[in-house]
Amino acid sequence: VDEFELIRRYFTRELIDADVRIGIGDDGAVMRPTTGRDLVAVMDTLVEGVHFPVDLGAADIGWRAVAVNLSDIAAMAATPRWMTLALTLREANPDWLQDFSSGLFAAAEEHSISLVGGDTTRGQQNIISIQICGDVDPDFILTRAGARVRDLICVSGTLGDAAAGLNLLQSNSVMLDADNDLIRRFRRPNARVSLAQTIAPHASAAIDISDGLYGDIQKLLRASDTGGRIELDSIPLSSTLVEQFGLDRAQQFALGGGDDYELCFTLPAGSEALLSEFSQQHTVRISCIGVVTDNHKLICTRQGEPFNYVDQGYHHFGASGS
Ligand code: ADP
Ligand code: MG
Repeated sequence: VDEFELIRRYFTRELIDADVRIGIGDDGAVMRPTTGRDLVAVMDTLVEGVHFPVDLGAADIGWRAVAVNLSDIAAMAATPRWMTLALTLREANPDWLQDFSSGLFAAAEEHSISLVGGDTTRGQQNIISIQICGDVDPDFILTRAGARVRDLICVSGTLGDAAAGLNLLQSNSVMLDADNDLIRRFRRPNARVSLAQTIAPHASAAIDISDGLYGDIQKLLRASDTGGRIELDSIPLSSTLVEQFGLDRAQQFALGGGDDYELCFTLPAGSEALLSEFSQQHTVRISCIGVVTDNHKLICTRQGEPFNYVDQGYHHFGASGS
């Protein structure tokens, strides 16, 4: 198929959003913003062999490419609206493209997002780059920067599952299509878009957890010019993770592994009651794992005792990255 036919066949869908004035097919897409709301733009790239194993199914790659962007949208408390897709492919394989686009649109449809444009190129390596544009209530934008001393440090869901799932895949101990909760968490992350909008009026700061809990909390605390203390035994772990890897490794996956796409946020001291409210409203675990401090360091404890954690979270150009 030529490029024009490829775009028409796999990426052009009937437009369901009246605010998309011009979609795929012209030189640019034109969207009408909602009066009184601010626009939010995020972008995230998946490189084959770096962000996912080369043998990951195309539908999962499509889903993940959208989900990782939705996670950034969630972290800003924004509503996702439109996306563009830059696709670099080694070859135009119809089966791969069919599966990829079905996974991509499945993730998009859960949030009624339209694909409004993109770019298609051939290259040495499959690279998928998506930009999502969303909007947000200007009064309730969540940023990394608002945490205050004594705030509670909270997280959604359970952590470390996806990193453990990826570890299983990389050690070849489990097949990709195995009926395994950890691998499923890696293949099909679900961003906390609606939860984030509920917490936004209450939270002082937020970040999504994509590169590992420890490193991502550090980013939030630095942006807020504060420090923090987290208790390892308060980190929410799934029973599957602990059963398969034991408590120590489970905590390591949670602290240093990536790909959770959960939310980490801070709440004013004394607002513990909100946790169960959020949890019930969104049927998701919400845990308080620590507190914001004024010493500009992130300290870990285990059962209250100091615990020396050496972070090896992912850095593309850092000592432990590639
Ligand atoms: P141009 O030469 O003006 O850059 P293209 O031929 O690259 O135009 O693209 C034609 C139309 O198809 C544009 O509207 C563009 O946004 C859209 N498009 C190209 N690639 C993709 C893609 N992978 N997904 C969605 N839309 C795409
Ligand atoms: Mg053009």
